[in-house]
Amino acid sequence: MIKAISYLGLGTMGSGMASNLLEAGYELTVWNRSAEKCEPFRRNGAHVADTPADAVRDVDLVMYSLSDDQAVEEVVFGSKGILSGIKEGQIAMDMSTVLPATSLQEQEAYAKRGVDFLDAPVFGSRQESANAKLWIMAAGNKAIFEKVKPVLEHLGQTVHYFGKNGNAAAMKLVGNLIVALEMEALAEGLVLAQKAGLDLNTVMEVVKVADFRSPLLLSNGQNILKRDFSPSFALKLMLKDASLIEKFSETMESPIPALRVVEKNLASAVGLGFGNENASALIKALEKEAGIEVKALNR
Ligand code: NAP
Repeated sequence: MIKAISYLGLGTMGSGMASNLLEAGYELTVWNRSAEKCEPFRRNGAHVADTPADAVRDVDLVMYSLSDDQAVEEVVFGSKGILSGIKEGQIAMDMSTVLPATSLQEQEAYAKRGVDFLDAPVFGSRQESANAKLWIMAAGNKAIFEKVKPVLEHLGQTVHYFGKNGNAAAMKLVGNLIVALEMEALAEGLVLAQKAGLDLNTVMEVVKVADFRSPLLLSNGQNILKRDFSPSFALKLMLKDASLIEKFSETMESPIPALRVVEKNLASAVGLGFGNENASALIKALEKEAGIEVKALNR
């Protein structure tokens, strides 16, 4: 049974998951590159480690959620990285959004040390992470998955098993392809609605109930109308994911014509300086082109 866990990477997603692990009663060790993010966890009873290698000693399970493939490279493979501290019999689980090929490299490196590895990325954002309502996917050895599943059930509302390593990472990119196209559709639709002089509050009332409704369209649409772009999923991370989807689909020889358009708009919005805002700030690239700002009239 898993009792002691270390969590590395206390950003938007990792901090919510690590808090829920403490809440669930696990003995928790945390590490983050910017050490100040560890302090609230220390106050709530977690151990704080100075390096990834120190963080992973003597725990049953090592979990991490890091920005991108490069961060995983540094934290896992770097000097004082996880691989220099982890030992046979421990389990490692990467919850970041990375290329399936990166997950496979991790699995191979851990296997050489007798360590089992799961790729376990998530859907949901800041709120779902904080409220243990994530939608989690996991891939790797089935028996190891069954061992870790009770931990994941403290973090999410669903946990799906995807078979061999790399498959959960692939599913995450499939999902984010759909998310990116939904965000683009919302942005293009709202800009057109504003240009056409429609009442945007009524537009969102229709988006809320019609057969194309989705929670993602609703929450992002409502926030755009309020001009609230505070980040729960940063625009720059969505651009990073678009480039992962592009690389992955090229490897699979699978067409992504629409994603290429979204990627261009994401890059424009990041170029305009909105990279640290929410992914819905993608609309700002279209607004610039259209010469308008989408905003609801107060009723
Ligand atoms: P975030 O808030 O930007 O946090 C990123 C974390 O990675 C921080 O702990 C950061 O450390 C760390 N990090 C970045 N580069 C590093 C490096 N070179 N070495 C060591 N640590 C490094 O990102 P997030 O939103 O939590 O996302 C984390 C992962 O989950 C990403 O792969 C993202 O695509 C994925 N994801 C995000 C969402 C979402 O809605 N936010 C949803 C699903 C999946 P510092 O604190 O020192 O910067």
